[in-house]
Amino acid sequence: MEEIYCFAGNPLDRVSQRRQDAAWVASLLQRPDTRLLPLQSLKPQVRHSSAVTLDWQSVAAWQPLIDAGNTLILLGMRDGRAYFALDATAATPPPDGDTVAMDARAVAPLIDDGEAAILAEARSLIDWHARHRFCAQCGTRSVPAAGGWVRHCPNCQAHHFPRVDPVVIMLAVRGERCLLGRGRRRVGARFSCLAGFMEPAETLEEAVRREVLEESGIRIGRVRYLASQPWPFPSSLMMGCLAEALSEEITIDPDELAEVRWFEREEVRAMVDRSRSDDPIPGLATLPPPLAIGHQIARRWAFGIDSV
Ligand SMILES: [Zn+2]
Repeated sequence: MEEIYCFAGNPLDRVSQRRQDAAWVASLLQRPDTRLLPLQSLKPQVRHSSAVTLDWQSVAAWQPLIDAGNTLILLGMRDGRAYFALDATAATPPPDGDTVAMDARAVAPLIDDGEAAILAEARSLIDWHARHRFCAQCGTRSVPAAGGWVRHCPNCQAHHFPRVDPVVIMLAVRGERCLLGRGRRRVGARFSCLAGFMEPAETLEEAVRREVLEESGIRIGRVRYLASQPWPFPSSLMMGCLAEALSEEITIDPDELAEVRWFEREEVRAMVDRSRSDDPIPGLATLPPPLAIGHQIARRWAFGIDSV
């Protein structure tokens, strides 16, 4: 069984057949045990009285916002109880000393893995609705259906489904060295696996070879898929791979990256340790935090768990 990374392992049953039934979805909102997660500007309210938890609420308090047509998503069911997410950006947050709005990236490492996965689902779906209000085919305003899992066009009858953007993220390896890059926008010493969006009509392996060649000039042979991670910013699927480098001379793409270089295995092990610390030493190379699959790919190669 593969390792589960942050934002994966959603415990809810998405009830993808039953959610087509609008009357059934409406009946779930009447049940007193139904729980609702309001997101304001894509941020959940978080309760931090003891352990940090998502602030699940009853439906009743949010009924006016639901009635006003704000985006409502049926996230799924668990143990007979329904879970919804609501775009509550239009609401003034009720004063509550125990809750605070937190960005999903900041809150995810602090909450239970299953809750982080549910949060990813809620964030991706609400964001998709906010950016896809009109039919891509005829321009008419579309309406959500099936518990928020489709938008229907009342004019041309087209159905539009929430999209997932596949991204390849890979560690190119040659012997005891691997290839890491530093982005233009990120200042400091954080290096990561190379990554990029897949293009239409391309295999995973072809996308890995193309992205590594474009960003570093390195030619890739064998590609080994390791694991994937939902990345709800806004709705990517990170597909992690190890890649066998066939060449060593780096030619950087200056539009994409500030620096690309080879790192020894020992160096990457030290970077894994440093990136777990809240207090990195200035100037020393580090990796993304453990939350990110790029950290996990580098860690697993550095400690000999995976090889290409
Ligand atoms: Zn249309």
